[in-house]
Amino acid sequence: MGRLAAVVDYLLPPACAACGSAAGDEVGACEGPVCANCRLGLRPVPQPACARCGAPLGTGEAPSCLECADWPNELGSVRAAFLLESPARELVHALKYQGWRSVGEFMGTEMARRAGAAVRDAELVVPIPTSERNLRRRGYNQAEVIASALAAEAGIPLRACLERWSQAGTQTALNPMQRRANVSGAFVLAEACGDMVRGRRILLVDDVITTGATILAASRALVPGAPARVSAYAFSRTVPMSL
Ligand SMILES: [Zn+2]
Ligand SMILES: [Zn+2]
Repeated sequence: MGRLAAVVDYLLPPACAACGSAAGDEVGACEGPVCANCRLGLRPVPQPACARCGAPLGTGEAPSCLECADWPNELGSVRAAFLLESPARELVHALKYQGWRSVGEFMGTEMARRAGAAVRDAELVVPIPTSERNLRRRGYNQAEVIASALAAEAGIPLRACLERWSQAGTQTALNPMQRRANVSGAFVLAEACGDMVRGRRILLVDDVITTGATILAASRALVPGAPARVSAYAFSRTVPMSL
C-alpha cells in the first residue's frame, strides 16, 4: 500500500484489519484497527509449553522439548503472545504486506499487556531488523513498529541495535568484533550500540517465530556486546511440526 492508499485508509471509516467488519458494528467497542471479536479471538499459546522456547508441549507421553534441545547458551527464554492462526495471521499479513502500520501498534500493545515477568524485567528492547529491500518497499520495519509500541507500553527503552549484514556493508568494512559475530549469522551489532548492550537484559522482538533460526542468529550477533541475558518475544508463533 502506497501513500495514496494510506490516505484513503485514513479517510474511510475504519474497518477491522483481520475480518474487515466496520468499526461500530454490533461487535462492540473497537480498539484501534482490530474489532473486539478478533481481539478476543486471538489464541494464546496453549499450556503446557516449554519453559525455554515456549513451544506447546502437547499432551503426549514425552514432556521434553525437541525444539530447543540444541540451542546455544546465549539465548534464554523465547515467548510468543499468540498462535499464528486466524485472526493473528491476518494481522501479521496486514502489517507486513498491506502497509497497515497501526496494526503493529495494536500488536505491540497487546503483547505488553500479556507479557510475563521474563519480558517485563528486560532493560532494553531490540527489534529484529528487516532487509533493506523490505524496508524500502514497506516504509517501515514491521518488527520495530511492534517493538516500539511494546516498549512504550511496558516502559522499557528501545534501540535498534542490530543491523542486517547487508546494511553493515562488505565483510572487509566490518570491525574485528563485528566480523567474529558475523561468521554464522545474518545480523551484526551496530557499532554505536556496544555500550548500551553491555551487562543489560535484552529483549529481542519480532512479529512471528517459526523455527527460531532468526532469533538464534540475532542473539549470536549480540554476544560481542556482552549482554547479561538475551530473551525474545514475538507476537505469534507457529505450532512445531513435532506436535
Ligand atoms: Zn475483526
Ligand atoms: Zn523448548
